Amino acid sequence: MQSFAELLEVSAKIHGHLCAGQVIGVRMALLGLRHIGVDDPKGVDRKKLYVIVEIDRCATDAIQSVTGCSLGKRSLRWMDFGIMAATFVNLKTGQAVRVTAREEARELSTKYCPELADKYQRQLEAYRVMPEDELFTIQEVKANIPECDMPGRPLRRVQCAQCGDYVQDCREIEQDNKIICRACAGQRYYSGVKG
Ligand SMILES: [Zn+2]
Ligand SMILES: [Zn+2]
Repeated sequence: MQSFAELLEVSAKIHGHLCAGQVIGVRMALLGLRHIGVDDPKGVDRKKLYVIVEIDRCATDAIQSVTGCSLGKRSLRWMDFGIMAATFVNLKTGQAVRVTAREEARELSTKYCPELADKYQRQLEAYRVMPEDELFTIQEVKANIPECDMPGRPLRRVQCAQCGDYVQDCREIEQDNKIICRACAGQRYYSGVKG
């Protein structure tokens, strides 16, 4: 495993800037991996590791950078809860921990870098040195990962009876005895443009 400083440098580069979220994300990932017995997330342990993030903010990029997990590999899943938390799962042993960034850490940052007047700068610097238990809460959990959300080949591929698009990974919906895609079932996020 690379050092914290090296991991932070890489994640800031991928993310586009160094921010408090990068510090939180790198430390969160290191803590999570340690608790589930994963030492080499991008090497020998890469197939055992699965991460669920609960927010699409800065720290998520850091978690992806440290763990090597990604949406495209289906080893990273995004549950849109808006909570600065992530669950790290060892698929081999079933061990899983959910790590949450503590809200109190924002205030505690004044204890570590009182000389820094800028709140964001202070948090960034403080988060580098704060003890893990001030920065995070950690719970042992059992992760309930649906079979359709696991890495590997798609379990199913079906055609939407309405629009004809193909739907993989069990995302289809049955409505009035027809198999349709989510868009046709009313979840369409786009609309056509006339002209
Ligand atoms: Zn950022
Ligand atoms: Zn459709």
